[in-house]
Amino acid sequence: MTTVPVVIVGAGPTGLTAATLLARYGIETTIIDQWESIYPLPRAVALDDEVYRILARLGVGDDFAAIAWPCRGLRLVDRNLRLLAEFARDGDTGRHGYPEQSMFDQPELEAILRRNLARCPGVTLRGGTEATAVVQGDDHVRVDVVDPRTGEAGSLRAAYVLGCDGANSLVRSCVGATMRDLGFTQRWLVVDVRCDADLGQWEGVHQCCDPARAGTFMRIGRARYRWEFRLRDGETAADFGDLDRLRPLVAPWLRQVPAARLEIVRSAEYTFRAQIADRWRDRRVFLLGDSAHLMPPFIGQGLGAGLRDAMNLTWKLAAVLSGRLPAAVLDSYQVERAPHARAMIHLAKLVGFAMTAGGEWGDLFRRVVAPRLRQVPGLRQRVTDSQSPALSRSDLVLRPRLRRTLAGTLCPNAVLPGDARLDDVAAGRFALVTSARPSAAHRAELARRDIVLVPVRSGNELHRWLRRGRADAALVRPDGTVLRAGRLGVLCTTLPVPAHPTPGGR
Ligand SMILES: Cc1cc2nc3c(=O)[nH]c(=O)nc-3n(C[C@H](O)[C@H](O)[C@H](O)COP(=O)(O)OP(=O)(O)OC[C@H]3O[C@@H](n4cnc5c(N)ncnc54)[C@H](O)[C@@H]3O)c2cc1C
Repeated sequence: MTTVPVVIVGAGPTGLTAATLLARYGIETTIIDQWESIYPLPRAVALDDEVYRILARLGVGDDFAAIAWPCRGLRLVDRNLRLLAEFARDGDTGRHGYPEQSMFDQPELEAILRRNLARCPGVTLRGGTEATAVVQGDDHVRVDVVDPRTGEAGSLRAAYVLGCDGANSLVRSCVGATMRDLGFTQRWLVVDVRCDADLGQWEGVHQCCDPARAGTFMRIGRARYRWEFRLRDGETAADFGDLDRLRPLVAPWLRQVPAARLEIVRSAEYTFRAQIADRWRDRRVFLLGDSAHLMPPFIGQGLGAGLRDAMNLTWKLAAVLSGRLPAAVLDSYQVERAPHARAMIHLAKLVGFAMTAGGEWGDLFRRVVAPRLRQVPGLRQRVTDSQSPALSRSDLVLRPRLRRTLAGTLCPNAVLPGDARLDDVAAGRFALVTSARPSAAHRAELARRDIVLVPVRSGNELHRWLRRGRADAALVRPDGTVLRAGRLGVLCTTLPVPAHPTPGGR
């Protein structure tokens, strides 16, 4: 029986991200997947700059930039593609140093993640290895596996197991967790198309609000486009399996370009659901990604949520495995992540209902109300702003119950003097960002705990961010989330941070 500190079940984007982050903290990992290769069907095409920042932390920021296509915002259109409302983005680069929304092709992203993982020491990726059972002992977890081609069986033993095994998670059923339905089920056709001609459409996401045939259209690359159409009762993806049968659906988007110039790359039927697991942790086993939550893809957050899970859990797990944090902090994973995922699910449902609900009355409402949405103060910014909600209070997000502070929010990945960004300087460690002047004693205390001191000058982006948060200092966790914010003197005398392992052996 092979023994490793961490076994990850599932080498989708969530599992690959978790394995890479653990490797950066020097934690040995075995990651298994039932298949040898990447899942080829069309899935995620959009992610925001908070998630892009995670990709950069994995070391694949430049590789992702090479396949990414910036997205200019969101348009709501009616069934005749007449504009109902537009929420355009202002600039290319957001507060984390990346475009606020990028389009991409999920199999291409997974290929990048796999190539990068192959360069990480201490990680073994075993394809063709299906988990069949997860059994917890007092001080370990056993994962039974089988090679689906040969039937050869075996077992892995680990201190912790991460269930990153997707929507039909075996790990979830082995720990007795169940999905709670949040009330959204729709069947959709999803089609990826290659076309060398420019369709001449606006470079953002178009949501076609039509209860009779809701649809989504967007450009996802130089010669790549994505359509999604809600299927009617009795229809299946096979009814639109070739260009001739797809033509009536896509024709309104093509303008002068003949349909013959389109090549269907992939086409699939999906049932979009809104679900969340009732428990994300059972002792030494955790659920991450689609095994913990499912959301309709209308706001492009499903894959991102899995990467956020991995980012949230891995530094805590590394600290627990090295004995620097107590195992109890691992409970903060579900406390912080579940409400965040739930908020994203509700937002995705809202967009879904806006596109599909209400029949003719809904149409009238959309025609009358949608064009006026831009005039609602602050709404454009809320729709296009990629900032996601703050994490809930936990042992590692310390803030008063009733007062809003920076705690739980992501610290911007701002440019610091010398042109490096915060993440480069913090390099996976705790950081204390402050506009005040720390005393020699404060500096010594921070150094003792391996907390990086990040002084910010007046006029700097982080200075403004602290001021807006009514603080002169913020203690930032290795995942970029603010643990606590307030006065420097108070923060330095109550540091809840012991010495911490640093990535890459630093
Ligand atoms: C049409 C569509 C559009 C989408 N658009 C977006 C979008 O724009 N933006 C976005 O962020 N998200 C989007 N998503 C969601 C996104 O694709 C998923 O959230 C994401 O793939 C989840 O990643 P994961 O690693 O958690 O799970 P998966 O990608 O499902 O990976 C799970 C892995 O576990 C393996 N596995 C399963 N069971 C076992 C077992 N017993 N043993 C071993 N291995 C196992 C599987 O083979 C698989 O490789 C979309 C989804 C769909 C369907």
